[in-house]
Amino acid sequence: MGGLHKGHAELIKVANQTSLGESKRVLVSVFINPLQFGPKEDFESYPRTLNNDCNLAQKNGADAIWAPSVNEIFPNGINSHFSIKVPKHLTTHLCGSCRPGHFDGVASVIVRLLSLVKPKLLILGEKDWQQLVIIRHLIDDLGLPIHIKGVPTIRDKHGLALSSRNSYLKANEKETALHLPRLLKESAKDVKNGLFLNKEKLSSKLEKYGLKVEYIETVDPYQLQPMKEGKQLCMLAVALKCGETRLIDHTFLMTHQPIVAIDGPAGAGKSTVTREFARRLGLLYLDTGAMYRAVTWIIQEKNIELNDDDAIQINLNNLDIKFEVSPNGPQTVWVNGQDVSNIIRSQSITKLVSKVACKPIVREYLTTMQRRMGEDGGIVAEGRDIGTAVFPHAELKIFLTASASERAKRRSIDLKQRGLPVPSLKDLESQITERDNLDSSRDIAPLKKAEDAIEIITDGMNIEAVITKMLNLFHSHIPEEVWPTTY
Ligand code: C5P
Repeated sequence: MGGLHKGHAELIKVANQTSLGESKRVLVSVFINPLQFGPKEDFESYPRTLNNDCNLAQKNGADAIWAPSVNEIFPNGINSHFSIKVPKHLTTHLCGSCRPGHFDGVASVIVRLLSLVKPKLLILGEKDWQQLVIIRHLIDDLGLPIHIKGVPTIRDKHGLALSSRNSYLKANEKETALHLPRLLKESAKDVKNGLFLNKEKLSSKLEKYGLKVEYIETVDPYQLQPMKEGKQLCMLAVALKCGETRLIDHTFLMTHQPIVAIDGPAGAGKSTVTREFARRLGLLYLDTGAMYRAVTWIIQEKNIELNDDDAIQINLNNLDIKFEVSPNGPQTVWVNGQDVSNIIRSQSITKLVSKVACKPIVREYLTTMQRRMGEDGGIVAEGRDIGTAVFPHAELKIFLTASASERAKRRSIDLKQRGLPVPSLKDLESQITERDNLDSSRDIAPLKKAEDAIEIITDGMNIEAVITKMLNLFHSHIPEEVWPTTY
């Protein structure tokens, strides 16, 4: 909306750093949108600093600035245009509850701007988190071919989140306003140290400094629904008045690093995309299928009957499985000192593994091991039951799937690349369907999509498209501020 400052400069810099091919152009839009101001709000006095905005945009590498008039955006007048109604659940909390119609106005104008510009990438600040979440949902729901990137909140050297409206603050109010980021930071630290968050106490501390609290809420950062701080990532958001100036700020409360659960049927391409996804985020990659395969290998190697639970248990007790994660290739799997990475992919293991995976003692053993590996978070685990049984509190759950014929084709390529014998596509497809049936019909932790998992059907998508989609999902649940993409 203009009144550009260092926070906007950062968005322009990020746009410049993002590779989008040679024809990339960075456009800055400045439009003070009348639709998003309430009747008693500051539409008239909102900072209009176009000359400064142009200088700042140019200095930071924008190719153009676009500052259309209201008539250009709404040629038939602002009351005779199509408007967007934001779904209720996204606006019942935070600013949505105290600024009725605000986000409808934001969404209506964003759709108009996007349809005029047709950008490939839309860059927005994480400072206005609710707005960012709503626009992500909007782009997703309308199926617009636009990627969104959020940029962490930029603060001044005292911690105050930069905002065009900070220019309204008088000198003495600037001092007072600093209590907001300070107390938010303290709350985040307390929660990290295992202390309980007391919102009433936080509110009275802010009020004591003369700040007039509008809301203090803890919400799920993606669904924007109330939640208590605890195991999962949670957003603590505050809106208040400092003198006449309305300020908003937030922090993220977390007690561990993020966990991502990726489930799906055989051959959906989980391993390839998950490994690369984990690498780009600097998260540990855990292929739990390899663990079930490793146990199957030892059972086969020692000629143990599948119904001989005692023998299986003894072998599990003495099992030494190690995973060596390499940054650029598949993980190496060691069982009792032997590298079994390739052999566990053989046809004989693939045919047997789902029967082994049905066994309660095997599941219990491996589930405990997987949970231990993910104790501190910072992990992406892929398998069949990660989101439903192993890490039901994962911050993000993805269910990756594809048609059986597509999966057979991929399995065939994978086997060829590993130098292993390749059965016909028809045989591969029927093996895959049989494994799907066994995996989804077993009693314990069957293969199924967790209720809160997001499904990606990968037919017709290449590897990069799937990874990009997963990274977008990751950052719609876990802010860049909390866990940036490292690559
Ligand atoms: O993913 P991959 O094909 O290597 O998995 C091999 C088998 O291991 C699956 O078909 C399934 O029977 C079993 N598995 C499981 N639970 C997991 C991961 C794999 O039951 N979390």
